[in-house]
Amino acid sequence: MKIQTKIAIQFSLIVGSLLAVFSFVIYQLFAEFREQEYYDRLKSKAITTAQLLIKVDEIDRDLLKIIDKNTLTALVDEKVLVFDQQNKLFYSSLDDHVIHYGNDLLNRVRKHKYVETSDEENEVVGLLYELNGQNYIILASAYDKFGHSKMANLRDILYSGLVIGILITVLLGIFFAGNALGPVNQFISQISTITANNLRERLDERHGKDEIGQLAAAFNKMMYRLEQSFELQKSFVSHASHELRTPLAALKSEVEISLDEKLSVAQHRGILENIQKDINRLIALSNSLLQIVRPLKSSINSAAEVRIDDVVFQAQDDLLLSKPEYRISVEYAKEPENEKHITVLGDEPLLKTVFTNLISNACKYSANHQAIVIINFNETHTLVSVQDEGIGIPAEDLTAIFEPFYRSKNALTISGFGVGLSVCKRIVELHKGKIHVESQLQHGSKFLVELPHIS
Ligand code: ADP
Repeated sequence: MKIQTKIAIQFSLIVGSLLAVFSFVIYQLFAEFREQEYYDRLKSKAITTAQLLIKVDEIDRDLLKIIDKNTLTALVDEKVLVFDQQNKLFYSSLDDHVIHYGNDLLNRVRKHKYVETSDEENEVVGLLYELNGQNYIILASAYDKFGHSKMANLRDILYSGLVIGILITVLLGIFFAGNALGPVNQFISQISTITANNLRERLDERHGKDEIGQLAAAFNKMMYRLEQSFELQKSFVSHASHELRTPLAALKSEVEISLDEKLSVAQHRGILENIQKDINRLIALSNSLLQIVRPLKSSINSAAEVRIDDVVFQAQDDLLLSKPEYRISVEYAKEPENEKHITVLGDEPLLKTVFTNLISNACKYSANHQAIVIINFNETHTLVSVQDEGIGIPAEDLTAIFEPFYRSKNALTISGFGVGLSVCKRIVELHKGKIHVESQLQHGSKFLVELPHIS
């Protein structure tokens, strides 16, 4: 069921029930008021009759009947009965109407002095009237024709009011729910047209600060993030395939040449060596790609206390093993008296990747293949700088080099894929740290990593 219909039904049910309760209460109150008013009139009629009959000795009972019948205020189906001390009927007004009475009604009147009751459709009032030491019981009964017709009228008005009220409520409910949810329907049709090709589409945020506006703003933010990551993935795939194509094309032509039987053993050997280089390049590339696509979780699962100097020494050892020509020196800026100052909470293999990449770059991009690593700390952070005296980075590239696959022009002659620094940045940020770079072309670069320590 559509929300619009649901809201309209709920709204109508609530207002309809309120109207019904309201009508019922009005009808009940009016019924009670009519009844009470009629009992009062019967009571005064009974008292008047009794006074005339008992107090005025001379009055003729037949004359009283005529007076009773013709009184201007005569009530419909009126009947008055008067009983003496022995419950004997002493006077009865008109004969065309009957009051059903019995000894218990008379006894009740004697006991309570005044009783209101009803007999079929008629209201009956019984009262004890005392005169000259004698107790008379007067029963007066009549049918409240006007009151009942007013009640029927009121009932009709309330019924039709209720039906019309519910109808209006249903229409208003449909109208207001439609009005309130109109923008949502608009969103639905807009959203259903969004595909991978038009991720730039945005919802209308004109509704300002209301819930619909907030929904549109949140959706737009999500679309922005999706667009960004989609763009990143697209550029990743195109870069990756480009990087893969070059060594593969080289491999293909090398294999084709080596299939030529006229080549000498030495020539075959030379081709095989080239093939080996290309294969090594492919392995390095796939390692880099693995680094970047390896899902870096939004929080570190295997967080442990890691001594940063240990990690730096491990990175140094690993690098020297594969590239013995590199020269890497590691120094402390000041003696860490408290080891907590150089201990961070984090993932050791990921942190090692950071320093391996930075030290390897420093050696790779400098003619002397030398990197100087300095470990330092302040009140809150462990600081590691990796310096070189290499080719340096153009000032306009200092931010871009942290983007995946970005490489400065001056670095293109040196092998690389532009992946390492973006991975370093993601890992450092995952550890709530920061990475900065300072550089001067032809003079060298200095990368600084700040990681919050545990103390
Ligand atoms: P790669 O070194 O494989 O190209 P990185 O992501 O590690 O990828 O580095 C990105 C770019 O940043 C490099 O291509 C290079 O232009 C620049 N760069 C990084 N480190 C240095 C450095 N120590 N000296 C000079 N340029 C650097």
